[in-house]
Amino acid sequence: MEAIPQALQQLINAFSRLPGIGRKTATRLAFHILKSGPEETEQLIRALRRVKNEIRQCSVCFNITESDPCSICRDPSRDRSQICVVEEPQNIMQIERTNEYRGLYHVLGGVISPLDGVGPEDLHIKALLRRLPEVQEVIIALNPSTEGEATAIYLARLIKPLGVRITRLARGIPLGSSLEFVDELTLGKALQSRSEL
Ligand SMILES: [Zn+2]
Repeated sequence: MEAIPQALQQLINAFSRLPGIGRKTATRLAFHILKSGPEETEQLIRALRRVKNEIRQCSVCFNITESDPCSICRDPSRDRSQICVVEEPQNIMQIERTNEYRGLYHVLGGVISPLDGVGPEDLHIKALLRRLPEVQEVIIALNPSTEGEATAIYLARLIKPLGVRITRLARGIPLGSSLEFVDELTLGKALQSRSEL
Protein backbone atom coordinates (compact mmCIF):
# COMPACT_ATOMS: atom_id res chain seq x y z
CA MET A 1 0.00 0.00 0.00
CA GLU A 2 1.30 3.41 -0.90
CA ALA A 3 2.28 5.58 2.01
CA ILE A 4 0.06 8.57 2.83
CA PRO A 5 1.91 11.89 2.29
CA GLN A 6 3.29 13.19 5.57
CA ALA A 7 1.24 16.42 5.56
CA LEU A 8 -1.98 14.48 5.15
CA GLN A 9 -0.94 12.00 7.83
CA GLN A 10 -0.32 14.90 10.21
CA LEU A 11 -3.82 16.24 9.63
CA ILE A 12 -5.33 12.78 10.19
CA ASN A 13 -3.39 12.52 13.45
CA ALA A 14 -4.60 15.97 14.56
CA PHE A 15 -8.24 15.12 13.82
CA SER A 16 -8.06 11.75 15.55
CA ARG A 17 -6.94 13.45 18.78
CA LEU A 18 -10.33 15.24 18.92
CA PRO A 19 -12.99 13.73 21.21
CA GLY A 20 -15.34 11.31 19.51
CA ILE A 21 -13.30 11.17 16.29
CA GLY A 22 -11.95 7.74 15.40
CA ARG A 23 -9.25 6.94 12.87
CA LYS A 24 -11.76 6.36 10.08
CA THR A 25 -13.59 9.66 10.56
CA ALA A 26 -10.28 11.51 10.94
CA THR A 27 -9.15 10.13 7.57
CA ARG A 28 -12.46 11.08 5.95
CA LEU A 29 -12.22 14.65 7.31
CA ALA A 30 -8.61 15.01 6.18
CA PHE A 31 -9.45 13.87 2.65
CA HIS A 32 -12.41 16.27 2.63
CA ILE A 33 -10.09 19.18 3.52
CA LEU A 34 -7.68 18.04 0.83
CA LYS A 35 -10.42 18.19 -1.81
CA SER A 36 -12.18 21.33 -0.58
CA GLY A 37 -11.65 24.76 -2.12
CA PRO A 38 -9.34 27.38 -0.62
CA GLU A 39 -12.28 29.49 0.69
CA GLU A 40 -13.75 26.64 2.75
CA THR A 41 -10.34 25.84 4.22
CA GLU A 42 -9.69 29.49 4.96
CA GLN A 43 -13.04 29.74 6.80
CA LEU A 44 -12.13 26.78 8.97
CA ILE A 45 -8.73 28.23 9.81
CA ARG A 46 -10.30 31.61 10.67
CA ALA A 47 -12.94 29.98 12.89
CA LEU A 48 -10.28 27.99 14.77
CA ARG A 49 -8.18 31.09 15.27
CA ARG A 50 -11.12 33.22 16.47
CA VAL A 51 -12.13 30.59 19.05
CA LYS A 52 -8.61 30.59 20.45
CA ASN A 53 -8.06 34.36 20.31
CA GLU A 54 -11.43 35.88 21.17
CA ILE A 55 -13.06 33.55 23.65
CA ARG A 56 -12.15 33.95 27.29
CA GLN A 57 -13.60 33.17 30.70
CA CYS A 58 -16.13 35.42 32.42
CA SER A 59 -14.36 36.73 35.53
CA VAL A 60 -17.60 36.42 37.53
CA CYS A 61 -19.13 33.05 36.59
CA PHE A 62 -16.35 31.40 34.46
CA ASN A 63 -18.68 30.92 31.51
CA ILE A 64 -17.03 31.29 28.09
CA THR A 65 -17.51 34.73 26.58
CA GLU A 66 -16.24 37.26 24.06
CA SER A 67 -16.74 40.15 26.50
CA ASP A 68 -16.16 40.12 30.24
CA PRO A 69 -18.47 39.86 32.21
CA CYS A 70 -20.49 37.50 30.04
CA SER A 71 -23.91 38.37 28.59
CA ILE A 72 -25.76 36.41 31.31
CA CYS A 73 -23.92 38.16 34.18
CA ARG A 74 -24.56 41.53 32.48
CA ASP A 75 -28.25 40.89 31.77
CA PRO A 76 -30.31 43.09 34.14
CA SER A 77 -33.39 40.90 33.65
CA ARG A 78 -31.75 37.84 35.24
CA ASP A 79 -32.68 36.89 38.79
CA ARG A 80 -29.59 37.71 40.88
CA SER A 81 -30.84 35.81 43.92
CA GLN A 82 -30.18 32.42 42.31
CA ILE A 83 -26.93 30.80 41.17
CA CYS A 84 -26.94 27.50 39.32
CA VAL A 85 -23.65 25.62 39.74
CA VAL A 86 -22.50 23.54 36.75
CA GLU A 87 -19.36 21.64 35.80
CA GLU A 88 -18.62 23.08 32.36
CA PRO A 89 -19.76 26.03 30.18
CA GLN A 90 -21.60 23.68 27.81
CA ASN A 91 -23.93 22.77 30.72
CA ILE A 92 -25.08 26.41 30.78
CA MET A 93 -26.09 26.13 27.13
CA GLN A 94 -28.07 22.97 27.91
CA ILE A 95 -29.94 24.62 30.79
CA GLU A 96 -30.53 27.81 28.80
CA ARG A 97 -32.15 25.75 26.04
CA THR A 98 -34.82 24.58 28.52
CA ASN A 99 -36.01 28.21 29.01
CA GLU A 100 -36.85 27.21 32.59
CA TYR A 101 -34.20 29.18 34.41
CA ARG A 102 -33.72 32.94 34.77
CA GLY A 103 -31.03 33.09 37.45
CA LEU A 104 -27.25 33.33 37.22
CA TYR A 105 -24.64 30.56 36.82
CA HIS A 106 -21.30 29.51 38.21
CA VAL A 107 -18.98 27.15 36.32
CA LEU A 108 -16.84 25.01 38.65
CA GLY A 109 -14.52 23.83 35.90
CA GLY A 110 -14.93 20.16 36.83
CA VAL A 111 -15.67 18.13 39.94
CA ILE A 112 -13.59 16.95 42.88
CA SER A 113 -11.85 13.77 41.79
CA PRO A 114 -8.95 12.57 43.95
CA LEU A 115 -8.12 9.79 41.46
CA ASP A 116 -7.53 12.42 38.75
CA GLY A 117 -5.70 14.71 41.16
CA VAL A 118 -8.51 17.29 41.19
CA GLY A 119 -9.07 18.84 44.62
CA PRO A 120 -11.44 21.63 45.72
CA GLU A 121 -8.67 24.20 45.25
CA ASP A 122 -8.49 23.29 41.53
CA LEU A 123 -12.13 24.35 41.03
CA HIS A 124 -13.76 27.80 41.12
CA ILE A 125 -15.20 27.20 44.60
CA LYS A 126 -13.67 30.20 46.41
CA ALA A 127 -15.04 32.49 43.70
CA LEU A 128 -18.48 30.92 44.24
CA LEU A 129 -18.34 31.57 47.99
CA ARG A 130 -17.42 35.21 47.33
CA ARG A 131 -20.67 35.61 45.34
CA LEU A 132 -22.92 34.18 48.06
CA PRO A 133 -23.63 37.30 50.13
CA GLU A 134 -25.90 38.53 47.32
CA VAL A 135 -27.60 35.17 46.78
CA GLN A 136 -30.59 33.40 48.32
CA GLU A 137 -30.43 30.03 46.57
CA VAL A 138 -27.68 27.87 45.08
CA ILE A 139 -28.90 25.17 42.70
CA ILE A 140 -26.47 22.29 42.23
CA ALA A 141 -26.67 20.97 38.66
CA LEU A 142 -23.60 18.72 38.55
CA ASN A 143 -23.53 15.44 36.67
CA PRO A 144 -24.91 12.55 38.73
CA SER A 145 -21.54 10.75 38.74
CA THR A 146 -19.84 9.56 41.94
CA GLU A 147 -17.52 12.60 41.73
CA GLY A 148 -20.44 14.94 41.03
CA GLU A 149 -22.27 13.58 44.09
CA ALA A 150 -19.21 13.99 46.31
CA THR A 151 -18.71 17.55 45.05
CA ALA A 152 -22.39 18.39 45.70
CA ILE A 153 -22.05 17.15 49.30
CA TYR A 154 -18.81 19.11 49.73
CA LEU A 155 -20.49 22.32 48.48
CA ALA A 156 -23.55 21.77 50.66
CA ARG A 157 -21.32 21.52 53.75
CA LEU A 158 -19.69 24.85 52.86
CA ILE A 159 -22.82 26.73 51.83
CA LYS A 160 -25.53 25.59 54.26
CA PRO A 161 -23.92 27.19 57.36
CA LEU A 162 -23.96 30.54 55.51
CA GLY A 163 -27.74 30.54 55.58
CA VAL A 164 -28.11 30.19 51.80
CA ARG A 165 -30.72 27.77 50.52
CA ILE A 166 -29.07 24.91 48.58
CA THR A 167 -31.06 22.73 46.20
CA ARG A 168 -30.28 20.22 43.48
CA LEU A 169 -31.92 19.04 40.30
CA ALA A 170 -34.46 16.30 40.87
CA ARG A 171 -33.07 12.90 39.93
CA GLY A 172 -35.29 10.79 37.79
CA ILE A 173 -35.55 8.24 35.07
CA PRO A 174 -35.03 9.98 31.70
CA LEU A 175 -38.34 10.33 29.86
CA GLY A 176 -38.81 7.68 27.22
CA SER A 177 -36.10 5.42 28.57
CA SER A 178 -36.54 1.94 29.97
CA LEU A 179 -35.61 1.07 33.53
CA GLU A 180 -33.26 -1.65 32.37
CA PHE A 181 -31.05 0.98 30.71
CA VAL A 182 -30.86 3.19 33.79
CA ASP A 183 -27.81 2.75 36.02
CA GLU A 184 -28.20 1.92 39.71
CA LEU A 185 -27.13 5.37 40.84
CA THR A 186 -29.96 7.02 38.88
CA LEU A 187 -32.45 4.41 39.93
CA GLY A 188 -31.46 4.72 43.59
CA LYS A 189 -31.81 8.48 43.48
CA ALA A 190 -35.13 8.21 41.67
CA LEU A 191 -36.37 5.93 44.44
CA GLN A 192 -35.19 8.30 47.15
CA SER A 193 -36.88 11.31 45.60
CA ARG A 194 -40.05 9.48 44.69
CA SER A 195 -43.26 11.49 44.82
CA GLU A 196 -46.88 10.66 45.61
CA LEU A 197 -48.91 9.23 42.77
ZN1 LIG B 1 -20.62 35.44 33.60
